[in-house]
Amino acid sequence: MKIAFVAAEAVPYAKTGGLADVAGSLPKDLEQLGCEVKLFIPKYFLTDDAEHDLHYNWDIGEMPIRINNVTRTVHVLQGKLPDSDVEVNFIDCPHYFHRRRIYTDDWDEDERFILFSRGVIETLQRLQWAPDVIHCNDWQTGLIPLFIKDNYSWDKFFDHVSTLYTIHNIGYQGQFSKSVLFSAEISGEHFYPGGPVEHHDAVSFMKTGIYFSDLLNTVSNKYSHEILKPDLGAGLDGILSERKKDLYGILNGVDYEVWNPETDKYIPHNYSAKDMGGKLENKKILLEHFNMPFTKSLPLIGIVSRMVAQKGFDIFADAIHDLIELDIQWLILGSGEEQYEELFRQLAFKFPKKIGAYIGYNNELSHQIEAGADMFLMPSHYEPCGLNQIYSLKYGTVPIVKKTGGLADTVHDWDELKYFGLDTGTGFTFNDHTGIALSSSVKRALDNFHIKKNWKKIQKNGMSKDYSWKHSAEQYVELYKLAKKKRG
Ligand code: ADP
Repeated sequence: MKIAFVAAEAVPYAKTGGLADVAGSLPKDLEQLGCEVKLFIPKYFLTDDAEHDLHYNWDIGEMPIRINNVTRTVHVLQGKLPDSDVEVNFIDCPHYFHRRRIYTDDWDEDERFILFSRGVIETLQRLQWAPDVIHCNDWQTGLIPLFIKDNYSWDKFFDHVSTLYTIHNIGYQGQFSKSVLFSAEISGEHFYPGGPVEHHDAVSFMKTGIYFSDLLNTVSNKYSHEILKPDLGAGLDGILSERKKDLYGILNGVDYEVWNPETDKYIPHNYSAKDMGGKLENKKILLEHFNMPFTKSLPLIGIVSRMVAQKGFDIFADAIHDLIELDIQWLILGSGEEQYEELFRQLAFKFPKKIGAYIGYNNELSHQIEAGADMFLMPSHYEPCGLNQIYSLKYGTVPIVKKTGGLADTVHDWDELKYFGLDTGTGFTFNDHTGIALSSSVKRALDNFHIKKNWKKIQKNGMSKDYSWKHSAEQYVELYKLAKKKRG
């Protein structure tokens, strides 16, 4: 099975969130299962050619691609995903991608990903490598299924190429003005109220992907149901309901080569479920780093997150007066909206012994927080899959999460299961999106933290879970087969 895996970010080249973790690891597991996979991402300014050993592909050469009636020349740099044979094709067009950030608010943000999508398609043509499936991810790749079925349908090469479209987060839809019709050369016949590419009198990249792809999936089973309803469908629940029979949910896996306390190269002391000694040492070092006192009986709660409304910082702010009274310390790592960054800066300033904050992006520190904290909080309003709670389980860092999407699929409430006579819980969950619900589950976690026997069991339960890619990658292969069958 030949798979072209297309995403706007991938570890280790460019990352803002979970999509990069997925794109940097799933292709490797697909390869292990016998697939031939080529990964496609844009060549951003921040990706260093020399560090990643990238080479100009002379077979492809310079490709003229017309966007918004201007012809740009595009070429491809090639590399290999570390520890694998997965070929990575970087679509290089400095005019669009040599900017300070991966995603921008620039006026031509739409053009950047129109170019990327067309660059991928034309690279496939020049390589004369027809994949069985083009696996598109999120809004940045949403136009590809339309291009294949319309703009490039003149080329027989694509007759048997099918498309799978994965929604990693429906909150980001890539909605742009009607001018996209002109700049991307999309036929006007697709644009009418309620039509395939139209959404609120604008062009929606995500809706286009949903409409034209052969099959669809999201990154957890629960989220695949949630997005069919108005409250979490973000306006696309209608079109998704129309395609319900083609919509699947496959939980993201995680890369235990990178996220494993026994081998993690970013943490001072490695540890395992059998010998947890290193975890306490990591906590001491972490607190010292933030100039916070270490007291064995005080649990430390970690947060590592993009600071945006989706992640539930509104209810955290509501609960903070209650939470600050508890005998708990907090460490927060994240960046995003100014109001939340400011909230955490102020909290760390006001309560320096209780709250530490690092505003920014820091991969090493994210590992150290997973390893040093006792608990991990994710109060997300919605969460398509969520990776940090899965990392937390492996690190014996008990997750406290809102029962939504992938969080609900991966964290099982200790007290709830106890009620049914089971001691298989792995964390603490809450249903309502309120500060009170959040703080009451933090209090339940705190109570159990002081009952040593319970706490050890909760940690062990989580550490023994296996959310590696193997199982999910097998499900993707099944989905690819279905997509292929559908296209014929
Ligand atoms: P999302 O993709 O919505 O941001 P996920 O939980 O799926 O959420 O993935 C987030 C990923 O980004 C995790 O690997 C997490 O460790 C990482 N991350 C988020 N914010 C930061 C940060 N400030 N510094 C380092 N890593 C971060």
